[in-house]
Amino acid sequence: MTTEPLSFELSRPAVDPPRLPDADVPGPAPAGVLPSELLRSRPPGLPRLSEPEIMRHYSRLASLNYSISENFYPLGSCTMKYNPVLNEQAAALPGFAGLHPYQDEESVQGALELMWRLEQALCAVVGVDRVTLQPAAGAHGEWTALRMIAALHHSREEKRTEVLVPDSAHGTNPASAALSGFHVVEVKSGADGRISLADLESKLSPQTAALMLTNPNTLGLFEREILDIAEMVHATGALLYYDGANLNAFMGICRPGDMGFDAVHMNLHKTFTTPHGGGGPGAGPVGVKSDLVPFLPAPTVERTNGHLTLDYKHPQSIGRVRSFYGNFGMLVRAYAYILAMGGDGLSQASQDAVLSANYLRKLVETDLEMPHDGPCMHEFVASAHNLHEDGVRALDVAKALLDRHFYAPTVYFPLVVPEAIMVEPTETESKATLDSFATAIKEIVAQARADPQSLHDEPRNLPVGRLDEVTAARKINAYLQGQSEDPILRWKAPSETLPKDPC
Ligand SMILES: *Cc1c(COP(=O)(O)O)cnc(C)c1O
Repeated sequence: MTTEPLSFELSRPAVDPPRLPDADVPGPAPAGVLPSELLRSRPPGLPRLSEPEIMRHYSRLASLNYSISENFYPLGSCTMKYNPVLNEQAAALPGFAGLHPYQDEESVQGALELMWRLEQALCAVVGVDRVTLQPAAGAHGEWTALRMIAALHHSREEKRTEVLVPDSAHGTNPASAALSGFHVVEVKSGADGRISLADLESKLSPQTAALMLTNPNTLGLFEREILDIAEMVHATGALLYYDGANLNAFMGICRPGDMGFDAVHMNLHKTFTTPHGGGGPGAGPVGVKSDLVPFLPAPTVERTNGHLTLDYKHPQSIGRVRSFYGNFGMLVRAYAYILAMGGDGLSQASQDAVLSANYLRKLVETDLEMPHDGPCMHEFVASAHNLHEDGVRALDVAKALLDRHFYAPTVYFPLVVPEAIMVEPTETESKATLDSFATAIKEIVAQARADPQSLHDEPRNLPVGRLDEVTAARKINAYLQGQSEDPILRWKAPSETLPKDPC
């Protein structure tokens, strides 16, 4: 097993202290400006290593990492597709990378133009009237949209307190609804994995503010009765919200706006190839139909006769939901992707994503259980329930895949499928990669039948073996209450070698 010590542990007192650049602000702060107990009395206890040593430390750490640039990452619902290098080049252009958010509008016309064009493009992809680029993630977008929905009902002097969420929904849906002050009401799925219209009917009421729906849903299934659903929801005066985190089956094919959705969030860090999972901040723009436009977060970007402005004059706006204008670097990357692909490219990507998922589903359908009939959309949910009699669980299959140099699929989600294994291959994988993943699944299932115990001991070839998640979860409470030193969550200075950092 190879692990890398912390730079603090590698530190050698004999090395000169790090040389920091001179402060470029006038210092020190006048007496009394900062409370004296917060002022540092000794230099910070930074690790002491030579430049090659610290370089090697970080290179070794990087080699322990796993990312989409190395291999297949079929993490269902997360759309781990290739992030084109072109995006990075665009975001690194000095005119974008060197901007300051307090710059005068006249000096950032290009950046505003990019935001305006990205808004137009996203409006066209999902079929809405306006888009806000502010929210910093999918969940943040859901929350923003629900605040707008609440404001709309409020403006109509309606008291609607409930948000309906299907049992297969992503966990952020009920969380966002609860955080924006709504009472969450669960809607059941039918045996076919789609929302039960009878159950929906029984839950809709004059209290309903909105139904949050994912389509294709998290089982990778298309909600065929979406037009009826939209009619039912609107008939009660409620709105229809689209969780568009994964637009990978729909881009350039069909539009939530045309299906009757009133608001939709998109994850630029999934569908539109901006990095995620430690690779950078997210971006969760929200699109709305005209009824919701007055409530959009301010400012909006407006364009008149080719001149761009930030418009703060929105008296009904729910206000700003993020500092400045969103994660601008991500907006540049997403716009670069959309431009490079073009409309035809985006629809081809959706078709390829659906083809990849169905191809892989077919390859493994006799190895794992398939709780719902195909075809699927951009992802499929299998179940390891068939390995139950051998004492093998979805977690064992996931860990065994790690040992075979694949990232594990999403497991135990959605909650409606026991022992769920959720696979989303995306359009950027080759047939050869999909074939080798299916071969790995076949090997693991054969191993589950022949020698189940050996699977419980995987992974064997990674920097750390099987982690004891249950013990970790139990001990963390004792740790947080100060009753235990275990688990060790942060480095502590061995006081004999380094001065204790007062901060
Ligand atoms: C990823 C995802 C979200 C949440 O997006 P974040 O950016 O992680 O907050 C919501 N819904 C679905 C279906 C998702 O896959």
